[in-house]
Order: sequence, then C-alpha cells, then structure tokens
Amino acid sequence: MAARVIDGKAVAAAVRERVAGEVAAMPTAPGLATVLVGEDPASAVYVRMKREDSAQVGIESFHHEPAPGEVAELLAELNAEPRINGILLQLPLPDGVDDAEMTALIDPRKDVDGLTPLSAGLLAQGRPGQVPCTPAGVMELLAHAGVELEGAEAVVVGRSQLVGKPLAALLLAANATVTHCHSRTRDLAASCRRADVLIAAAGVPGLITADMVREGATVIDVGTNRTDEGLTGDVDFDGVSGVAGAITPVPGGVGPMTRAMLLVNTVAAAKAQLEAVP
Ligand code: NAP
Repeated sequence: MAARVIDGKAVAAAVRERVAGEVAAMPTAPGLATVLVGEDPASAVYVRMKREDSAQVGIESFHHEPAPGEVAELLAELNAEPRINGILLQLPLPDGVDDAEMTALIDPRKDVDGLTPLSAGLLAQGRPGQVPCTPAGVMELLAHAGVELEGAEAVVVGRSQLVGKPLAALLLAANATVTHCHSRTRDLAASCRRADVLIAAAGVPGLITADMVREGATVIDVGTNRTDEGLTGDVDFDGVSGVAGAITPVPGGVGPMTRAMLLVNTVAAAKAQLEAVP
C-alpha cells in the first residue's frame, strides 16, 4: 500500500493561522529584523519569503542589508532595539564573515533561529529555549501526523548544528531511542532499517532507498537539493512510498514548516520579552 503523504503545506497553513490569532491578541505587533548579507540569490529569496510570511500573520519585519564588515555592529544595534523581538541572520554568510561567530553575537532572547550557543546548550540539556526552525517544524509535523515517539526507534541521518543535532535532541526529549548517523556511519542501510521514524537530513539526493526502510515506518525528508531534475529530497520518494507508512514530499513537506516555525519562534520571543518588562 502506498504511504500516507504528510502535507507540510497544510500543517504550515494551520500553524500560520494559529500564530495570526496569537499576534492579533498581543498589545503590539512583534518585530522581526531580517539581515541579509552578500549577493546569494537563494538567500535573498528565502528572506523575501520570510518577510511575506511575517506580514501575513501580522509580524512587522525590518529588513537590513549590511556590508560584511558591518554585521557585528548592526547585530549590537538590533540587540538593543526594543522594537525588535527577533533577529533572523540569514545563513550562510559570504566568505570572510563567520556564520558561528556572527550568530553568537545575537541576544539569545531574540534568537528566533535557535542557533546561538546558549539556545543550543539549553536544548542539549533538555531545558526550555528557542529551538531551530527546521527541527521544530519536523516535530510539529510528527505530532500532527499522530506519530508515537515514546519508546520509538528514531534514526536521524545528518549531524549538522542546523538540523541533525537539534533534531536528535528533540527526539530524545520526546523519549524516542535515537540513533544518529553521518557520513562515517559504517552500515547506513542497517541503521536506517531499525527506524520506526527515519529522518533524512544529509543533503544527498536519493540517499534513502526503499531497501533501507522498514515497512510502515514514518519517513521525514529534510533534504532540499537542487538538481538538474529540479528540487529533490534525500529520499527516493517513489520507491520509499511503497514501503513506508507515512512520508513527507519535497517540495511541500518540511520546507513550509521551517518558514512557519520562524513565526512561532518570533511570537514566543516577543511574548517572553513582554513578560520580562517590569
Ligand atoms: P550539512 O551541514 O551539509 O550536513 C549534512 C550532514 O549529513 C552531515 O552531518 C554529514 O555527515 C551527513 N552526510 C552527508 N553525506 C552523508 C551520507 N552519504 N551518509 C550519511 N550521512 C551523510 O547539511 P544541513 O544544513 O544539515 O542540511 C541537510 C539537508 O537539509 C540539505 O539538503 C539542506 O538543503 C536541507 N535543509 C532543508 C531545510 C528545509 O527547510 N527543508 C532546512 C535546512 C536544511 P558528516 O557530519 O560526517 O559530514
């Protein structure tokens, strides 16, 4: 039987509606600063879409395009600006400006991407904090699809700071038994076949094939790879659909959720800052 397709667009639309309701009930619209550095066309498109999403739910966005040498100074200004509740520094930064070094300059209270060392540390310790948007979106998709994580075998392929590591931490916090795979994993297929929940976040088109998937497993494809055939995931969708119980498509799976979770994080940051005002 063909796998159930988990519709990320629909779940993201429901998240946006929920966020719009929360924003409407707030005394002032949350403010999101978007920071775009350099000329990368894909980054420019992502930032534009994030600003459009923000406008749609009532979040006010403030756009900045600093020169590479001005990023640190701008982040300091945005940290101090009360109108700004969240700071989105679009990564990757151009050569000569270090992603991790600049990200660490963001005030953790405004860290809506959840990538500062403090946010990462809180997540690793299982404490409340800002969670990176893509892993948060994957968890929201799993919840929406009614996937039981307690005691489940979860396998994460990929160990980046942006996706794999935070996702493994979230799955562990949800009481899954987590196996973490990467490029040095000896037998990737054998590890993947253990999974009740298989998350592919390697950036390798078609890496996960049907023979690597246990019958009835839930397969979440984070991969977003631009190929000659267009945008593809890390999962051979057609083959794996014949084995899995549920699967996300690319596009239309995790991607829309990543965008939606930025809005969730921005509202959460704004609410926490409002509550902190004496
Ligand atoms: P990344 O920083 O390049 O990390 C890739 C990870 O996959 C690394 O840990 C690497 O292992 C592992 N890996 C690479 N080849 C492998 C192989 N053949 N077998 C097993 N593991 C392998 O990438 P990322 O930023 O995490 O992104 C991963 C994918 O998700 C990309 O396609 C990216 O475009 C996509 N993405 C999508 C969204 C979205 O919203 N949908 C958001 C973010 C990223 P090592 O650590 O050993 O090198």
